[in-house]
Amino acid sequence: MRVPFLAGNWKMFKTVREALNLVEGLINDTKGIKDREIVVCPPFTALHAVAKAIDGTNIRLGAQNMYFKENGAFTGEVSPEMIKEIGCRYVILGHSERRNIFGETDELINQKLKAAISWGLNPILCVGESLQQRENGETQAWVGSQVKADLEGLTPSEVEKLVIAYEPIWAIGTGKTDTPQGANDTISMVRNLIAENSSYEVAQKVRILYGGSVKPQNIDNFMAEKDIDGALVGGASLEVESFARIVKFESVVAAS
Ligand code: 13P
Repeated sequence: MRVPFLAGNWKMFKTVREALNLVEGLINDTKGIKDREIVVCPPFTALHAVAKAIDGTNIRLGAQNMYFKENGAFTGEVSPEMIKEIGCRYVILGHSERRNIFGETDELINQKLKAAISWGLNPILCVGESLQQRENGETQAWVGSQVKADLEGLTPSEVEKLVIAYEPIWAIGTGKTDTPQGANDTISMVRNLIAENSSYEVAQKVRILYGGSVKPQNIDNFMAEKDIDGALVGGASLEVESFARIVKFESVVAAS
């Protein structure tokens, strides 16, 4: 069974002081939860303080990006070793904001994935289609092509280390979401692709999340879908109450 995975991507929000307030609230509100994985991804500047605050708790740490080189003259960049040393287990790679605002290509993301895994980090790889692609009926073809390009050359044992987040770009920060059924269909397609290119066993282990306007009001419906293993949450992860409610999703299927 895949352990449900609920991650908060704080993006460029929260000073160190604000990050500590948020994470201390979360520690309190999610105490004792052991059957799901809870991850927070603060901005780089707050990683160290948050790492210390969550030490010994059930909350894990992720970074929002990294460069693929070990070290060197790369002004403004952060290496895999640096985020590993500070206590990150996860790193978000290929977020649509990195792709679209900062011009990251599948080739670069592929290099980053390989570097992250070689340093013992677990990437959270983001993929997703634009509104235009959606309207043209190209969602599955596009997402499939991103997954193939991003995972190029990864061995099955490397693919097994991944978490994948399907985040339709038009649903990010807009209050619009895919339907749970629609998200599940795309996520199943990604799982089938991994089964074909790696192995059935690997595909059964990889957790695949939905992201895009996930809120306390809709999380239960997404989590009721068979192939949706969790959520990558932006806006609603910035408040203790809403992220804690998302973490404590109730399985509609199990309850009925
Ligand atoms: P929102 O939850 O704010 O739509 O953001 C989703 C996202 O981009 C998470 O990575």
